[in-house]
Amino acid sequence: MKIESITLHHIDMPLVAPFETSFGRETHRPCILIEMRADGLTGWGECVAGAGPWYAYETIGTAWHIISDFLAPMIVGQEITEPIGIVERFASVRGHPMARAAVEAAFWDLYAQARGVSLARLIGATRDRVTVGVSVGIELTLEAQLASIERFVAAGYARIKLKIKPGWDVAVVRAVRERWPDIALQVDANSAYTPDDAPIFRELDEMNLLLIEQPLHHDDIVDHARLQAQISTPICLDESIHSPEHARWALDIDACRVINIKIGRVGGLTAARQIHDLCAERGVPVWCGGMLETNVGRAVNLALAALPNFALPGDISASARYYHRDIAAPDFVLNDDSTITVPDTPGTGVAVLPERLRDVQVREVIIGKG
Ligand SMILES: [Mg+2]
Repeated sequence: MKIESITLHHIDMPLVAPFETSFGRETHRPCILIEMRADGLTGWGECVAGAGPWYAYETIGTAWHIISDFLAPMIVGQEITEPIGIVERFASVRGHPMARAAVEAAFWDLYAQARGVSLARLIGATRDRVTVGVSVGIELTLEAQLASIERFVAAGYARIKLKIKPGWDVAVVRAVRERWPDIALQVDANSAYTPDDAPIFRELDEMNLLLIEQPLHHDDIVDHARLQAQISTPICLDESIHSPEHARWALDIDACRVINIKIGRVGGLTAARQIHDLCAERGVPVWCGGMLETNVGRAVNLALAALPNFALPGDISASARYYHRDIAAPDFVLNDDSTITVPDTPGTGVAVLPERLRDVQVREVIIGKG
């Protein structure tokens, strides 16, 4: 396929409700959509870089710069036959995994469409429904936190992930456990703690959690290995795993016993599959994390999470969890068994709606002939 053009769309989407983590509180989510044209087809990818350098160093601004000034010019006008061709061309770029992943995703969509198969089938998916959970943001009071969980339990989510931060951890988890003694529960600290906080994790270790996600420094694996040796609840790494190499290093020293795979964080769907395969070989379960994606990114997450070693529920909520009006259709809904159906139409299975895109677009730029 000859890549004719790449258009970057910077959009800003109002969230259904504010979402708070240990980084802060968000009411809108900006993102960059990548529209790639080749052979009369259009592929879409979503860049999950945030408004500021909080979850990762990449932002809308850095991703815009890297994609428009470097990545797009490397491939526009080029004949590329396989997704690995994108990965190889980007191999000279250090870092910026979210920028690379977004462009690669748009190519995967094109590539699957050109073959007339769904992305899920193309990458080796083994299931047509994916079990999902919900990531619940931090609320201002314990009462509000319990009420928000109640709403998601009532909506049918079979696994709850709580965001924790210093001062909002053991007592909250204990209250949730008292209210829902048997619900599948896990916590995510987004790197808000230090090794001196080990006693907090020994207390959480008693609360029958599925896993404790990224308790320590966002780039660390060594301290996580020391903490894992002190608790029996599996540590799950998120922020620290930037590539298949990072995954291997972490597993080699028992820094974690579960990995949260996010396509953007690890630099693309190809790398995400490599981490999946490595973890499968080592008997380590993985799950698919979420970055408040629109339906464009959500569809790719569902395809990935349909691979066999995605053994734990993903943070791939229904579309209505985050947005009243998504920019792509169809919307994803929660089935009765806390699953979401994996699209089976060619490509990612969602189409961007131009009028909705216009409503939320901040700026656009076209590289190549538009
Ligand atoms: Mg996380």
